Amino acid sequence: MSVDRSTIWPYQDGEPGEFIYQRYGHPTGVAAERRLGELDGGHALLFSSGAGATTALVLTFLSSGNTIALAEGAYFGTGVLFRELERWGLHVVEFDQTGSPPDGVDLVWLEAPSNPFLTMPDLEAAAAHPARVAVDATAATPIYLRPLEHGADFALHSATKYLGGHDDTLLGAIVCKREDDAERLKEFRTRSGIVAAPDPCALLLRGLETLEPRVRRQTESAIELAKRLEAHPSVQEVRYPGFGGLLSFDVAGADEARHVETSLRLITNATSLGGVHSLLEARARWEGERVPPGLLRLSVGLEPVEELWADLAQALEWAGPD
Ligand code: PLP
Repeated sequence: MSVDRSTIWPYQDGEPGEFIYQRYGHPTGVAAERRLGELDGGHALLFSSGAGATTALVLTFLSSGNTIALAEGAYFGTGVLFRELERWGLHVVEFDQTGSPPDGVDLVWLEAPSNPFLTMPDLEAAAAHPARVAVDATAATPIYLRPLEHGADFALHSATKYLGGHDDTLLGAIVCKREDDAERLKEFRTRSGIVAAPDPCALLLRGLETLEPRVRRQTESAIELAKRLEAHPSVQEVRYPGFGGLLSFDVAGADEARHVETSLRLITNATSLGGVHSLLEARARWEGERVPPGLLRLSVGLEPVEELWADLAQALEWAGPD
């Protein structure tokens, strides 16, 4: 598709048209938002990253003195960001998302499934809470979960991951259930400038065309790999929710985790997830004591499953307990 990179569109007879200035909106962004809105069943807006989308949501709908109930074990960067915003008068409490959110909070923040602990939220309990509910559904994708159908007000995606799908575009999305929420959020996005540029939006449109076959195949492979990892003597615990391409497993400790990381031949030892190439990393390097030292996060790509298993099996030979 052609990408219109204009930052300005001339007025017609002195009147501004549909597109005026790129920060307000642009044709590629609108096309990608329409497509994602259809997939998630709401009004989609695109941001320059997943973290940017999170920032915009919180700053649009909360004020100084408000409290966010954050799912324990959710993406590490989300908690770091919320704590950064405490300087501006926000409060954060963590809770177990498999149960009910605490009373007296102003925004409930869930993650489906959480990264890297792979727990699923109790969406019904959250929907019964009076506060607005946001679900970071990055790892589920709209193919496996449409949070707005379960009573959430917002679905959030790091579109950098599965939606883009090729590790070559940084992008965030929020899909709002209510049109007036989308309007408020868009106004904040325009004013703050946390907006997605045309090229990433074009890459998102391309990624969405293959989203379903990609994540279905990643799920098939992840189911098989989770089963084989469960049975492997060097693996202590496997976390996998039964769908999607993301899983985590534990080897004995940091040294064993480093052995696995540095022995891989096919799977890339890098951060991030959701792309067509498989990625693995020990999360303790970023998350410290929040995760077991031997926790390895695996994002399953599109490589043949037997080749993936052969790579993991040879890397795990070095992580044995002996
Ligand atoms: N949400 C989840 C679940 C993530 O895994 C990430 C990034 O790893 C983000 C949000 C932040 O997204 P981005 O890196 O696109 O800013």
